[in-house]
Amino acid sequence: MTHDAPSPLSPATVAVTAGRPDRVQGGPVNPPVVLSSTFVNQGVSAPGDLLYGRMDTETWHPFEEALAALEGARHGVVFGSGMAAVVAAVGAVPPAGVVVAPRHAYQVSLGYLDDLAARHGVEVRRVDIADTDQVLTALDGAHVLLVESPTNPMLEVADLPVLLAAARERGVRSVVDNTFATPLGQRPLDLGADIVVHSVTKYLAGHSDVVLGAAVTRDDALAAELRAYRTLHGSIAGPMEVWLALRGLRTLHLRVERANANAAELARRLAAHPAVVEVRHPSLPDDPGHDRAAAQMNGFGAILGLRPRGGADAADAVVAALRLWVPATSLGGVESTLERRRRFPTESVTVPEDLLRLSVGVEDVEDLWADLDQALAGTAR
Ligand SMILES: *Cc1c(COP(=O)(O)O)cnc(C)c1O
Repeated sequence: MTHDAPSPLSPATVAVTAGRPDRVQGGPVNPPVVLSSTFVNQGVSAPGDLLYGRMDTETWHPFEEALAALEGARHGVVFGSGMAAVVAAVGAVPPAGVVVAPRHAYQVSLGYLDDLAARHGVEVRRVDIADTDQVLTALDGAHVLLVESPTNPMLEVADLPVLLAAARERGVRSVVDNTFATPLGQRPLDLGADIVVHSVTKYLAGHSDVVLGAAVTRDDALAAELRAYRTLHGSIAGPMEVWLALRGLRTLHLRVERANANAAELARRLAAHPAVVEVRHPSLPDDPGHDRAAAQMNGFGAILGLRPRGGADAADAVVAALRLWVPATSLGGVESTLERRRRFPTESVTVPEDLLRLSVGVEDVEDLWADLDQALAGTAR
């Protein structure tokens, strides 16, 4: 759906109010879920007439509208997963074209780039996204710039205003994966991004009960391209998933506020813990990404990097000793989860073997701390 004037309302209010049905006497406060694969349609249909559920369906629109409003976009396009959105946005690179991407990023996004290289001769230039000069050099002759900031799982912070302006100047399509920051944490379209993609699975839906993705843009032609891609490749979302995501989105501001506060407090305490080698969180004043994040983000996010003393075995022991924290992949749910990333053979070898990625949830911070503290104490013995 299109969204024209910038909303004068604060993001918290937009999260609650966007994508509601018109107010009519006796009408529902929430948009209905329409379960229909086909729509009454004959002759030549007018633009916007619904025809068939793979092309467009009204249950997508309220979520698309709400996310577009939060990101300051004109168009929202919901997909069946975050990966479907990444592929739709990045896959437009021509055969033998050039993609610039962070060396640390969501593993499956990097895996997709490897696939593009193998099948279509695409050149993938992996960069340290925090090293602005390196990225600017790599943009020479490139077609697509994929950015994550903060990166998964290393939490490196890119200089978004500089990189996105440089991409625009050079005619390079910029795609920002805003899953970690959420639109409340940063709005890359305001900084010059062409397309923002999300794994809606994570913070936007927020309850670890749905897999979903989305892309947003201000550009009419790009929106048409993304929608055409979705129809052609069939990478569509189910109506119940989109309904769940909109339900989750209504409390995004509350969840993000609490999770970010919990994460910053845990980072501060962990940094002083004797059983900890390193903590990465942009809230920490001496974190390499702190100044940049403070300048371009609203809050510092709720993902922490933690390296316990004693190496990978000690890190596994910490995970096993936790009772409240859930050992699980994924992130952005109300419940706190963690995992040692290098347990996956596909994780970049430059990610330390002992790095735990923590997704801090919205529980009471003292309970989260007590559990971490007992688990770390057990391994220090
Ligand atoms: C999870 C994730 C994805 C992929 O999203 P899915 O919904 O799992 O397909 C992409 N980017 C980031 C940063 C993610 O965390």
